[in-house]
Amino acid sequence: MDIMIATGNKNKVREYKEMLEPLGFTVHDTSELTGYVEPVEDGTTFAENALIKARGVYDHVAMISIADDSGLSIRALNNEPGIYSARYMEGHEYPEKNRSLIKRLEGCEDRYAWFTCAIALIDHNGNPHVFEGIMEGEIAFEPAGSNGFGYDPIFMLPELGKTSAELKPEEKNAISHRGQATRKLIAYLKEEYGNE
Ligand code: IMP
Repeated sequence: MDIMIATGNKNKVREYKEMLEPLGFTVHDTSELTGYVEPVEDGTTFAENALIKARGVYDHVAMISIADDSGLSIRALNNEPGIYSARYMEGHEYPEKNRSLIKRLEGCEDRYAWFTCAIALIDHNGNPHVFEGIMEGEIAFEPAGSNGFGYDPIFMLPELGKTSAELKPEEKNAISHRGQATRKLIAYLKEEYGNE
């Protein structure tokens, strides 16, 4: 059975292939499409934006379609950067973005933050499903660690005493927002399409 991932990002495509091919799916991505224009992501939540992307590609190809949206929300900054995580301080590298966030929290006691990942799926009947995961933590006082990507070096997991950039990939995957959402997606696909 064919499944379309609404991304042209090669790393994401590879990860989805590793996850979905063992379940018997043939994984496609938008780099194969001609005349496909990505929809404007004008939702107000991660789930809405993931659904907009999945629906956009489903309307073009009419095959089971998946899209994801994720980001970091910081309570004391009015949940910023939130759905704008990828676009926050556009043109700057992550070490600079991370320093800026730490600076903005200077003198602030509330350092609570969380990562969200929403994976949207449009099924073969055109019905929408959303699988979500959240990882809670705090914004560190200093960046630490070199694994992971993006905001990981400033995302402190208080119970572990480490940032998510100090975790091994499998350790992060076991607890991360993306790991949780992905496991929910896989459970759904096995249940729904497992015997086909
Ligand atoms: P998306 O891939 O377009 O959903 O963008 C998500 C953005 O959120 C990334 O570019 C990162 O800035 C941030 N982000 C999402 N998940 C993580 C994570 O696990 N670690 C660090 N940053 C993340």
